[in-house]
Amino acid sequence: MATLPQLGEPIHKPLTDLEIRLEANRCLYCYDAPCMRACPTHIDVASFIGKIATGNLKGSARVILEANPMGASCARVCPTEELCEGACVYEKDDTPIRIGDLQRYAIDHVMKSGIDLFEPGKPTGKRVAIVGGGPAGLSAARDLRLFGHAVTIFEAHDELNGLNTYGIVPFRLAYDVALWEAQQVVNLGVDVKTKTRVGVDVSFDSLLKDFDAMVVACGMGNVPKLGIPGENLPGVWDALDFIERAKLGKSVANLGKHVAVIGAGNTAIDALTCSKRLGAERVTMYYRRGEEQMTAYEFEYEFAKQEGIEFRFFCAPTKIVGETHVAAVEFVRTEIPKGAAKPAPIPVPGSAFVEKVDTVIRAIGQSRLNDVFKAAGIETDGGVVKVDDELRTTRKGVWAAGDCIFAKGMREAMVVEAAEQGKVAARSVSAFLGVSR
Ligand SMILES: Cc1cc2nc3c(=O)[nH]c(=O)nc-3n(C[C@H](O)[C@H](O)[C@H](O)COP(=O)(O)OP(=O)(O)OC[C@H]3O[C@@H](n4cnc5c(N)ncnc54)[C@H](O)[C@@H]3O)c2cc1C
Ligand code: SF4
Repeated sequence: MATLPQLGEPIHKPLTDLEIRLEANRCLYCYDAPCMRACPTHIDVASFIGKIATGNLKGSARVILEANPMGASCARVCPTEELCEGACVYEKDDTPIRIGDLQRYAIDHVMKSGIDLFEPGKPTGKRVAIVGGGPAGLSAARDLRLFGHAVTIFEAHDELNGLNTYGIVPFRLAYDVALWEAQQVVNLGVDVKTKTRVGVDVSFDSLLKDFDAMVVACGMGNVPKLGIPGENLPGVWDALDFIERAKLGKSVANLGKHVAVIGAGNTAIDALTCSKRLGAERVTMYYRRGEEQMTAYEFEYEFAKQEGIEFRFFCAPTKIVGETHVAAVEFVRTEIPKGAAKPAPIPVPGSAFVEKVDTVIRAIGQSRLNDVFKAAGIETDGGVVKVDDELRTTRKGVWAAGDCIFAKGMREAMVVEAAEQGKVAARSVSAFLGVSR
């Protein structure tokens, strides 16, 4: 495999053997452990830490990956402070067990030693199509193979693992880790059709004739346009295209001295820190609300501060200026009216100002794949696929999981949620096909 750029030091270094031993032996193996309840995939944390403490790394990795097929990426990118570690009984003393690091240690052992942990179930003769080979699709595929169903993943990209492979910056999640994780699922005998966009290269209806069930796990789309003049100028980027090119070591042209990132979620933080590590002198985040309303995780925000990112709150872009390339952005200051029923930022009259910038990256969320859902014949609610408790869509024989069912008002979408939803969908599909555990 080609060596891809890491863009500087990984944020998170693995713990040493000694640190791991000390940390594992600090765990109290709590009864009804709160860390396990706080994990969306309900990993039996006490059990896997206990196995590390006794040197059974293979057994530990099995406990983790059984509950979470995306355990390798989650050990690196989960907001553990908000999940398992935030719930740990030591949290009140500010010394929660470093669950993410322990998880990474056990899985790295399996990764390095090439141990196979799972085997497919007895063949059932049933066939399931999965649309999208990101975390949700892979998780569903893994469990469907354990049930014994034949699985084919249709993936638009060249490689599997969705945003884990192409979206999360390499200094948080390396490309080869994402590919290793996907390969573990493929090794169970999953058929993979990459470079195949369902709805374009093959129709949903034809797949539903050939397969007994389908799981739609296509994620979300690109970053929407800002809707202001000058957006088509060279030097204006969609954050996802920008990060993908940087991660794959492709050219992102000359960023110039000053990069402006519009938005304040985790994608914005990745675009900001990536720009800085690509050599931009100044990198500034602009957000139309305040610091408290940022959707990026606290640890992400802290990391961006350490990387030297500048932050400008309560300002919105109104125009991108330039002749043949971005040269500046016009902004207006914003405020949130006190006592408003739905607090939306509004422009402050006469507050316009101009910032000289060389590159603009929009990172204001992701659009919805409405065309895909229409072609699939499944209903949505404002672009969010409608599902019931078992993740069945409105079309018989079709389930959905992952970011495509992620609704507004939640915090940022997460890999661990996509992994859990993949499992839930697989269980329900299997019951529909007459195989339950
Ligand atoms: C920049 C960025 C940083 C993030 N950082 C974190 C983080 O630190 N921690 C965290 O937990 N989460 C993070 N996330 C969120 C996380 O990546 C997603 O929640 C997760 O990847 C969702 O998984 P998914 O399988 O639903 O979708 P995706 O990962 O988007 O995968 C969907 C797959 O479907 C494919 N596809 C789409 N349409 C079709 C079609 N018609 N036919 C065939 N294939 C199709 C796509 O090519 C893609 O491979 C981040 C997201 C971004 C964008
Ligand atoms: S809550 Fe903390 S101490 Fe208790 S089992 Fe979980 S990790 Fe161990």
